[in-house]
Amino acid sequence: MTKSSSLKKTKQQSPACKTSRRRAQTKSADGDAASVERKERMKKILKALAKLYPQAECELDVATPLEVLVATVLSAQCTDKKVNQVTPALFEKYPNPQSYAKAKVSDVEKIIRTLGLFRAKAKSLVAAGKMLVEEFGAEVPDTLDELVKLPGVGRKTANCVLVNGFNKPGIMCDTHCCRLSLRLGLTESKDPVHVEFDLAKLMAPKDWGLFSHRIILHGRRVCHARKPECGRCSMNGFCPSASAGDDRAG
Ligand code: SF4
Repeated sequence: MTKSSSLKKTKQQSPACKTSRRRAQTKSADGDAASVERKERMKKILKALAKLYPQAECELDVATPLEVLVATVLSAQCTDKKVNQVTPALFEKYPNPQSYAKAKVSDVEKIIRTLGLFRAKAKSLVAAGKMLVEEFGAEVPDTLDELVKLPGVGRKTANCVLVNGFNKPGIMCDTHCCRLSLRLGLTESKDPVHVEFDLAKLMAPKDWGLFSHRIILHGRRVCHARKPECGRCSMNGFCPSASAGDDRAG
């Protein structure tokens, strides 16, 4: 078969190709429209949250990147209030990475035993101290890629350290952030990493940290997991879950 006849043959198959290309174009146009709609909604959400919680900030009592790291590891499945009750004694006894590296896990456990998962958390803190000393010059690193190498540190904790310890951009995708992002139509995923990536596309990095603090507060105060108080929520005019109640919002 010559090159030109082969081309002709390809052209003869073109109606099917055209149809699938048209479908792909329609899909991509739908995707673009959805993304524009999400971005527009995100602008309204940022504005509403800024008005509701102008002073939102980290509720853990922490002053240094190491304290942020330790308190955030401790806060897994635990309230900030409970963490704040144990950290003064912990920070006093273990003021630097070297002291965690040399600590006995059982001694750390004694100080944090009122917290859930205290055994695993104590083990993580000592292991993290060792890694900080051996691989990071006894300094808490300030990049996400390095932070997630530390024992007990996932993306949420790493982002928390970036935002609260280094004043760098980060999206803290905890349970409240994930739930509200889904309800507000900013994502279709329940997976924290997917949600984080979806949110990152919808706002400038400079907004990531404050957005996280604010959406978490809104989740704690208004948009509760079981029964969101849509009636008194200032975003009920544009939230896709506002009138659907718990069934849809879950
Ligand atoms: S309108 Fe209801 S579901 Fe939507 S963010 Fe507000 S409280 Fe949550």
